[in-house]
Amino acid sequence: MSDNSNLIQLANQARQHAYAPYSNYRVGAALRTKSGRIFTGVNVENAAYPTTMCAERVAIYKAVSEGEREFDVLALVTDNGGSPCGGCRQVLAEFGLETRILIADGEGRLLQETTVAALLPGAFTPIQMGIRGNGENG
Ligand SMILES: [Zn+2]
Repeated sequence: MSDNSNLIQLANQARQHAYAPYSNYRVGAALRTKSGRIFTGVNVENAAYPTTMCAERVAIYKAVSEGEREFDVLALVTDNGGSPCGGCRQVLAEFGLETRILIADGEGRLLQETTVAALLPGAFTPIQMGIRGNGENG
């Protein structure tokens, strides 16, 4: 099994823990860092809708909270191969435009392989704020 299909499988497996009682749109993400660690995430909805959080950001925030800021690839699985929302594209851009994105459906089929740079052209990044990516100064 390739690294890509393994990551997609992990994202798909994570979906069973999605908390999506309102939309029933179950999303799973699996993020592999450059150091080789993998963090999964699911969407977590809320009765107060705007406080809902996406699977991609859950995975990213888990990684950052454990000291990881350099990402290799994120696999995203939904029933119909949905793409990351604008908010998640912006959060991904914070940690590198070169991060690869694998978009797959609920059968585990890879529908699209792309990058953050392609998903968010003209991204506002840490460079505009006077720092490099990953929170480094200078
Ligand atoms: Zn999102």
